[in-house]
Amino acid sequence: MWEPSYLKLYESGELDKRIDLLYRILESCELCPRKCRANRLEGEKGVCKSGKELMVSSYGPHIGEEDPLVGIGGSGTIFLTNCNLLCVYCQNYEISHLEQGETRSESQVADYMISLQKMGCHNINFVTPTHFAPQLVKATKHAIEKGVRLPLVWNCGGYENIKR
Ligand code: SF4
Repeated sequence: MWEPSYLKLYESGELDKRIDLLYRILESCELCPRKCRANRLEGEKGVCKSGKELMVSSYGPHIGEEDPLVGIGGSGTIFLTNCNLLCVYCQNYEISHLEQGETRSESQVADYMISLQKMGCHNINFVTPTHFAPQLVKATKHAIEKGVRLPLVWNCGGYENIKR
């Protein structure tokens, strides 16, 4: 039977190590190539206007994604507020540029993930997640403990920092 690979990371303790590492990056943020060096744990913000707290604009089953993600139950999207890329032509301008959204805890986002799974979605689709990578990995840990087993989609703009 298929199992998500994040379960192995959780069981081995590797997920906790990665959460610690990711949160340390927030002390002098270089999650993305902008490398603002803002101490987001102390409330400073960089180009993405995001601090320590997760912000979510909406969540729910989405049938507008690519067919393999949508299936019959929809893709379980969670739209994160703000963006590190900030294209001027963004189709989600209010969310990405104008900070439309609400602060949510990692545990609340885990509850959204469980809710999407119960609704019959085929995956959890984090939309514009890069600037909230630490918080989302932590939310995933909470969601694992609450029973989430869906594949994860990292639906980013491709503006990721792959080197430290
Ligand atoms: S994630 Fe935000 S604060 Fe961090 S480097 Fe990118 S734009 Fe700057």
